[in-house]
Amino acid sequence: MAVSKPSISSIHKLWSNITRWGRNAPAYIVIHFTSGFSQNSDSTAGMLSAWKSYAERGSNAHYLVGKSAIWEMVNPKTHFCTYSCGSRVGKKNVCEVPGWGPAAYKGPLSMSHAGVAGHANTINVEICSCKTGRKKCDPMDDGWYFSDETYMNAVQLVAWLCDEFGIKVTNIIMHNQITGKLCPAMWCNKPGAEAGFETFKQNVATLLNEIEEDTPVKSPSPMPEGGMVNVAADSFFYSKPSTDAPIVAQSQAATILPYTVSKNGFYYTDSGWVQSA
Ligand SMILES: [Zn+2]
Repeated sequence: MAVSKPSISSIHKLWSNITRWGRNAPAYIVIHFTSGFSQNSDSTAGMLSAWKSYAERGSNAHYLVGKSAIWEMVNPKTHFCTYSCGSRVGKKNVCEVPGWGPAAYKGPLSMSHAGVAGHANTINVEICSCKTGRKKCDPMDDGWYFSDETYMNAVQLVAWLCDEFGIKVTNIIMHNQITGKLCPAMWCNKPGAEAGFETFKQNVATLLNEIEEDTPVKSPSPMPEGGMVNVAADSFFYSKPSTDAPIVAQSQAATILPYTVSKNGFYYTDSGWVQSA
């Protein structure tokens, strides 16, 4: 049994600035906040205004999460990556928007994944934020929050994405960890704020673990001999033992890799499921 797919609407698409994954596969899930600052910014009207501003700016993300809906704006399964986290893989970009970068506040996780994660290897999730207190978009303010409903929608979506793409919970990161941008502000704008993000990841892990406990991975019987598999150059690695599953990596050259489980002619390696050469 897999994590059940949450209800996701594909009506509100974005088409600017998307490219194919190429050899880099989605290895990280990046969490953003929309910086909506009313107490109703996660309503359908709030989602629509966030979506319109992405469309006008030419920016995007794969998913937008609100109080009563999840919208898929760019489909990560058709191998498109977005321009939402401000950096390329292998390049360290620092957020220099006045008041929004590490110059305003640099927490313990700030830029921990600079140069490692970027547009080409991340699935990006925008969560609609709300705010109490003054109605101003200052990331350093107190009062930023996600409503319970929106938060739970995000946990469900991210758990499903982890399962679907074979992404580890430790590879769920904040936008703040790439460029130092204070995004999502409530989890990175003051000392100790990151505890909220740790709780989010634990909630995702709990959902995933419950599923895994239900369906333990069975070792093949009899155990395969050797435990090594020949992989041809340019082979695709999949998140599941099926060529219909999302591609998570591609081999650059012919190689021999250790595997732990085989199923339906596929072999499970550290890079995902692959067929023998
Ligand atoms: Zn962001």
